[in-house]
Parts: sequence; C-alpha cells; structure tokens
Amino acid sequence: MKQNGYGPISGSAIFDGIIGQKKIIMAANTRITTVAKGIFRAAKDTDSAVFIELARSECDLKGGYTGLTPKDFAEKINKAAKDAQFDAWALHADHITIKKGDPTELEQTRQLIDAQVAAGYTSFAIDASHLFNFEGKNVREELEQNIQVTTGLAHYIKSRMNGKDFGLEVEVGEIGRKDGEGLILTTPGEAVEFISALHGNGVYPHVLAIANGSTHGHIYDDAGNIVEQLSIDISQTKAVAKALRDNNLPVGIAQHGITGTPRELINQHFPKGDIIKGNVGTFWQDVVFNTLKVYEPALYNDIQAWTLEKYRDANPGKKDRQIIDGNCKFAIKEFFRELYAVDEDTEQAIQAMAYAESLVFFRAFSSYGSASLVRNAIMKNNTK
Ligand SMILES: [Zn+2]
Repeated sequence: MKQNGYGPISGSAIFDGIIGQKKIIMAANTRITTVAKGIFRAAKDTDSAVFIELARSECDLKGGYTGLTPKDFAEKINKAAKDAQFDAWALHADHITIKKGDPTELEQTRQLIDAQVAAGYTSFAIDASHLFNFEGKNVREELEQNIQVTTGLAHYIKSRMNGKDFGLEVEVGEIGRKDGEGLILTTPGEAVEFISALHGNGVYPHVLAIANGSTHGHIYDDAGNIVEQLSIDISQTKAVAKALRDNNLPVGIAQHGITGTPRELINQHFPKGDIIKGNVGTFWQDVVFNTLKVYEPALYNDIQAWTLEKYRDANPGKKDRQIIDGNCKFAIKEFFRELYAVDEDTEQAIQAMAYAESLVFFRAFSSYGSASLVRNAIMKNNTK
C-alpha cells in the first residue's frame, strides 16, 4: 500500500498490522470533529493506530444528524490529521445500516457508498443485523437476509474501491435489542454460521460486530441518572471469539457501545485480541458539551433549551436531564454554525480534553505501539 502523507490508510492495513496482538484499536465517532485533532495528537504521542468514523445516521448525503456529508467529514478529518501530522489512521463508515432491505433502500445505500468511496473512506461497516427472520426454522434461515444483503453490498464496495484495499466490518445480532428478559446476545453458533456463509460467498470481513450486552450511548437508572455500563458479557464474547477460531474463521470482534463502560474494567477484563476494534461515540460528544458548559454557557443553554422544547412531548415521564442527554445529539446539526465557530480558547480546551481522554482509552485498550506495527506491516507488504 502507498502511504500518501497524512491521508487515511486502509482499514485492512490496521487489522493486518495487529494480528495476534492483545490490542484493541479505538474507533472514535467524532460527531463534532473538533475533538479529532486532540485524538490524533494523543495517537501520535502513544504510537496508537486509530479509526475515525461516523454512522449512516450521523453522516449521510443529507448530512445525517451531525450536519456532515461524507465529503465534509472526510475533509475535516483529513485536515485534523495533517495538522497533527499523524499517519496511522483509517476513515471508517460505521453502521451502514439497512433496515428493510428493499430495492429503494439498497439503491440509496449504494449511493451513500459511492459518496463515501469518492470522499476517500478506507473502511466500511455493513450493518444488516436488523434483517433477522424471527420465523426462520434454523440459524441459517434466521440470518439468510442479513447474509444476502451483506454479501451484495460487500461486493459492491469492492467493485467501487477498484482494486484498493479496504477494511470490512459486518454485524450479526442487533446491538442493544431487548426481549422480555433483557438484552439479546449473539451466540457462538450464529457468529460461526454468519461468517462461514459470507466466506462461502467470497466475502472476508476483518471484524464482526456482535450483540454482547452493550448499548449505544448512555444508560440510566430509574431516576434518569447516567450509570456505568457493566452489562457487556465478557464470557459470551470470549466464547464467540473461540468458536470463530476453532472453525478457522479469522475475524476479530468489534465492540460497539463502549461510552458507559469504566476504563479500568476494559483495561483489566476485556479480551484484547479477541476484541480488536472498540467503538467510542457518545463519549466524544460529552467532551464537547461538558467543555461548552463552562466556556460557552450561552450556546450550551441554547442547545439545552432547543432539545427540551423539541423532545419533551415525545418523552412523557422522563426527567429533563435525561431528555437533554438522550437527544442533544440532534442539536448538532441545528447549531452546526455555532459549534464550529467557538472561541479559540474553547477549541483548545476541547482538544486538550480529547487528548487526555484518548491517552486513557489507548492505555486501557493496550493500543500503544500499534501504529508502528501497522507501518511495519505496510512496508513489509510493499517490499514483497
Ligand atoms: Zn455501533
């Protein structure tokens, strides 16, 4: 692979570079991209490879809820990488979600992928996990539509990338879905069936996102207070990884929904190397909003007021605090101009906070040194 200054490298180069290592690579959803420079500086100082990503809901052809199209997002992140002079990162399309799988939705999905490829994305997550057939008589039948849609889109990405390497993530088991008894978890058998079927179709993902007890964003107690997330089922995650290994299916696990999980727990108990990609999203939005509380109180108050006004009726019985916390992400597009025009002091504080928090994530994920591993693997590949 050719290194092109500080532009994104292929997601596959990052996954290939850390094979066999007990490391998790952070994937940061930078909904307000101001944090990216701080993240890149910390990545540089700790020699940590990193993914920067946004999901389809956050960033699409109409701007998603962050107000960013794939092109806008790529430009902002490329600039941040150049400013920080950091090279070991990939630009990832998180949750390219397909909810129905009908022709219209698939066509719109291909248009989104076209825009992502044109913007220089180097890694993609196809999420057709919603297409679960509850009437299926066996695992294969339950997963069949997910397999078909994932296969079709993976081949489409490959053709659009036109021979260039890219990272590929797929998803089995919708993250955060509950039944009467709590969160539904992906079983080892489902993961094996899903990946085997994709291999049979000529699709070889690097990472698999599973439902293992995490939830996107914050979780709350009955009084609406944010509480720590201790619900990730670590033994189930290890069992899924082991089943994949035992069946000669070389694919790592992508852990979604890390925001609420204490980092000491990640550091000491996450199966690093089984989990190889760790998605951190809402956390970075918190970094921005917590800084605004002090540095830009008028703007922060406007954001709170707008969010409450817009979402109070739809959330009867919920405390204001929880309504604001759960819906302030939708204010990002509304206050786009203001959020990207804050004072230099504010920007500096946001980036310093992002820097420090990234250090702690990189340490908890044991990703120190991963950037050099990735660079060496790329060089070795080039001289073959
Ligand atoms: Zn996710």
